[in-house]
Amino acid sequence: MRILVVEDDTNLNRQLSDALKESGYVVDQAFDGEEGHYLGDTEPYDAVILDIGLPVMDGITVVEKWRGNGKGMPVLMLTARDRWSDKVAGIDAGADDYVAKPFHVEEVLARVRALIRRAAGHSSSEIVCGPVRLDTKASKASVDGVQLKLTSHEFRLLSYLMHHMGQVVSRTELVEHMYDQDFDRDSNTIEVFVGRLRKKLGGGDLIETVRGLGYRMQAPTDAL
Ligand code: CA
Repeated sequence: MRILVVEDDTNLNRQLSDALKESGYVVDQAFDGEEGHYLGDTEPYDAVILDIGLPVMDGITVVEKWRGNGKGMPVLMLTARDRWSDKVAGIDAGADDYVAKPFHVEEVLARVRALIRRAAGHSSSEIVCGPVRLDTKASKASVDGVQLKLTSHEFRLLSYLMHHMGQVVSRTELVEHMYDQDFDRDSNTIEVFVGRLRKKLGGGDLIETVRGLGYRMQAPTDAL
């Protein structure tokens, strides 16, 4: 899962980005509205954290432009505490949720998790696919109740596939959601990660290869 953080307060931006990375997300950072708008317009994000008061272009304009251009990713707005009118303007402009400053980073993380889950059609914080359980809150996964030891790449891969369970996900899409903009991307490495992940999941065909299209994760149907 890949997140964009648009916040001009460099300390706050770093604090949020570090916390997101610790939770297993890959993060791109922007420090003004124009840069943030550009990234959100050109890169696929699973969620965006967008400050309202930004240099060059304010957060309301940024989200309005994205929505006007058909960009539907979940947007969490950061607003000033006592400015109820900002909250209303943010939601009206197309933001999905907001957190007022000052906030606890944990609250932002919880709201981001919920936004990503809901965008993928999951209402519970735990996503289940046959024997595999993904705990989005603890950033952990287990098979038949046994916790998996996953690298951050493997976790991101599993998390993305499970959030999009039943759908065919292309290698390009996986690359775009597993690496940040500065990473030297190579879609061939995805195959390697899928191979490792399959092994850790205990073999079997939980992750199906759809020839020429990508991968699909789905719960095995009960054999008779
Ligand atoms: Ca600001």
